[in-house]
Amino acid sequence: MSNMLKNVGLVAAFAVAVHLIMKTDASEQTTRPSAEHKPYTQFIDMALRGDFEEIELRGQDGREVRALDSNGTLIVSRIPVNENIMNRLYGERVDVVDLSARDKPQEAGFMSRLFLTLLPAALLIGFMMFMMRGGMKGPGGGGGGGGLLGGKSMVKKFNARDCDVRFEDVAGIDEAKAELMEMVDFLKSPGKYTRLGAKIPRGALLVGPPGTGKTLMAKAVAGEAGVPFLSQSGSEFVEMFVGRGAARVRELFEEAKKSAPCIIFIDEIDAVGRQRGGGVGGGNDEREQTLNQLLVEMDGFDGTEGIIILAATNRADILDAALKRPGRFDRQVHVGLPDLSGRVRILQTHLRNKPIAPDVDVKVIARGVPGFSGADLANLANEAALFAARRGDNAITQADFEGAADRIMMGAERKTMIMTEQEKRLTAYHEAGHALCALRAPGADPIHKATIIPRGGALGMVMQLPEGDRVSLTRQQAHARLAVCYGGRVAEEMVFGADKVTTGASGDIQSATAMARAMVEEWGLSDKAGAVLYASSRQEQAMGATGRSRSISEVTSLMLDQEIRELTDLGKVMAEQILTDYRGELENIAEALLKYETLSGSEIKIVAQGGTLTRDPSQPPPDETPKGPGTFGATPANDTGNDMRPPKPL
Ligand code: ADP
Ligand code: MG
Ligand code: ZN
Repeated sequence: MSNMLKNVGLVAAFAVAVHLIMKTDASEQTTRPSAEHKPYTQFIDMALRGDFEEIELRGQDGREVRALDSNGTLIVSRIPVNENIMNRLYGERVDVVDLSARDKPQEAGFMSRLFLTLLPAALLIGFMMFMMRGGMKGPGGGGGGGGLLGGKSMVKKFNARDCDVRFEDVAGIDEAKAELMEMVDFLKSPGKYTRLGAKIPRGALLVGPPGTGKTLMAKAVAGEAGVPFLSQSGSEFVEMFVGRGAARVRELFEEAKKSAPCIIFIDEIDAVGRQRGGGVGGGNDEREQTLNQLLVEMDGFDGTEGIIILAATNRADILDAALKRPGRFDRQVHVGLPDLSGRVRILQTHLRNKPIAPDVDVKVIARGVPGFSGADLANLANEAALFAARRGDNAITQADFEGAADRIMMGAERKTMIMTEQEKRLTAYHEAGHALCALRAPGADPIHKATIIPRGGALGMVMQLPEGDRVSLTRQQAHARLAVCYGGRVAEEMVFGADKVTTGASGDIQSATAMARAMVEEWGLSDKAGAVLYASSRQEQAMGATGRSRSISEVTSLMLDQEIRELTDLGKVMAEQILTDYRGELENIAEALLKYETLSGSEIKIVAQGGTLTRDPSQPPPDETPKGPGTFGATPANDTGNDMRPPKPL
């Protein structure tokens, strides 16, 4: 993909401008992931349509404008130098508030000055985007009719028709979608559930990296159910309503009770929901009060009202445990980065209304952008349209897509991971190593799925699912888990050589060590250590107990460490044995992972034996999740740390 050079030559000025815009965009997004940056032309258009109630002037020079649109999304733009926004909006039903004094001097720095010098180009591009979008969507929609009347509540209520997102607009995250379907049904006819005394979901936490479609999905639930969508971002509770966070929460729920059945959506919930009292120097009272109020409100209704609370975060681990208790956000729905088939379908969704040249092959495009999120793909579709517009063409060609992909990937540091071909190969072998050990180690839990799509810091993963509820582990099963843990690293070593191995296995090594430690210190699965519970004494020791209070001797401690080492070594040897004996199967699985990116458990078995899959790589793998009654297919939010639970993804 290096059509870029040619294109840059043709439109050098544009290239620079777009590049800078993207950079600014990215740095802004680090601080406020929910902000949507729009060209000024679009911003004004929205204002004139009545999409905003209030516009804030921000930035040191007062030329940054921010407003909440009718979906509660923060829209950000900049006023061009020769423009007077007050004149433009005089007589319109929108308040303009100057808050630029609030912004510290350093906030509007180098970037915005660069921005200003490049404004003419930026405007032109903005105008083109405006034309393209305007062309396909058309005006209408109406916006919130209330205008300034009736107070300045930022929590807005929308008619069902205003939330026009549907499930069909959300592509490539089928598992998450399936889990939320039930909620739609409940919102449509709550009576059906309450009559039978069924336990009704009260809330779900959408967990996943930025841009994967969490907000989109929440809107789709409301859109599908035809109920109002009340949304508020967690960071707004703490930033925009300083001193009023708790009151805002109360108002939000009051409004929800009036509008029920409805959806409350709290974006970036980690901004308020972080572990209480965890901060250095006593924590943040304001935030804690807001969080407490949220907990009170969530407990305050019994689930028959028809209010469902969805929240989004990319860090479920830092949330206060109280939020994840039963009756609150007791369901976590994982929204991951899309795999190849997901990317194909997301791209198709975003190309629905764009003119596409006959040479365009969506599968080829999707294959070239591993690690792209839904938002990246939406961006890709738009960039490609820009390329075409610049050429003066009226259809987007394959070359446009390639140029756009190059540009996005070369753009500033990106938050989402983009894997190089080499990383992808290494990950494929790593995961294939885990998978093969899970297939071949006697007593290993059946393999459920393997993927080389990055997720939560890991480059790929293998998931196993024990059959039925596991209440105990046999020694054999424990050894198998150790072998599976080491399968990844061992495969890397065998295929790429000892000095090419990566740090990617650190999580595996951690799991293996924890497993071996439990075997020795808690479960009595080591002959030398015997069936003695050492765990608590060891913990005491680690915490620095000395002298007589120490209940475990230095010698014993050393022996335990040796036993742990012995067990982990044994696991590694088992993995080496398996991968050597079945090297051909390792290759088969890795090749299939490179081709398909995600494989189901039964697919792995087929390809390991040298079979071929009939599935087209652009189709998703079959869902083989066992669905128990009423489990909703979700992971329990409160992780008890019980070691009998299914093995962690590796
Ligand atoms: P998140 O809330 O997870 O950060 P958003 O829902 O705000 O992500 O996604 C931003 C935009 O990216 C969406 O408005 C949509 O255009 C696009 N997008 C993201 N995920 C998907 C998806 N799964 N299917 C279709 N479009 C998507
Ligand atoms: Mg979002
Ligand atoms: Zn691993």
